[in-house]
Amino acid sequence: MHTSALVLFSGGQDSTTCLADALSRYTRVETVAFDYGQRHRVELDARLQVLAALRAQFPAWAERMGQDHLLDASVLGQVSDTALTRDTAIAMQANGLPNTFVPGRNLLFLTLAAALAYRRGLDVIVTGVCETDYSGYPDCRDDTMKAMQVALSLGMDRKLLIETPLMWIDKAQTWQLAHDLGQQADPAQGGQALVDLIVEHTHTCYLGERTQRHDWGYGCGQCPACQLRASGFARYQKP
Ligand code: ZN
Repeated sequence: MHTSALVLFSGGQDSTTCLADALSRYTRVETVAFDYGQRHRVELDARLQVLAALRAQFPAWAERMGQDHLLDASVLGQVSDTALTRDTAIAMQANGLPNTFVPGRNLLFLTLAAALAYRRGLDVIVTGVCETDYSGYPDCRDDTMKAMQVALSLGMDRKLLIETPLMWIDKAQTWQLAHDLGQQADPAQGGQALVDLIVEHTHTCYLGERTQRHDWGYGCGQCPACQLRASGFARYQKP
């Protein structure tokens, strides 16, 4: 029986929903993020805001929230040249992948997370990867996750589970999942409380824009991440 989890938590909509999902099912939940020279520090700031807001607004979850870890993965900046770490425009490349793709990023993150989970005695790794919206990212695919689960379990000689609660749902369903988890955690407060928290505090925009406020949250409104978040929110509100 699994009782504890390590959530890959970047401070975006997806990983915040994954964190809420883990908090609804496990009694001890720790979080980890990676500093790899992201163009915008706003992501790393947003995650601390989200953690503080969750603790303040969901006391039952606060009891389950353990250590938060920030690991240095700046080595990625040395081996890759992408739109997420350099100041270049986001565009599609000839190979059909956006230049926001950082080769090996998720593979490295999962390996580091597994080593941390091993040391901390955590049974499950939870990650918000999704095939529905980002099928272009090969390191987010279901087969990749299953292969990593096998490789890491064998390589560390310890059964490790990789959970991907968002793998087969779209952005509208991710908003709905947040609503349902919030409702379940605190029926008196209602599911909208968690949706509002995600709108207000999470960060998704590739350009690091946090001055423009929309009904779905802060962002430039134009980059692929903002468009995905905005269209999902619109469909969630008017199914
Ligand atoms: Zn944006």
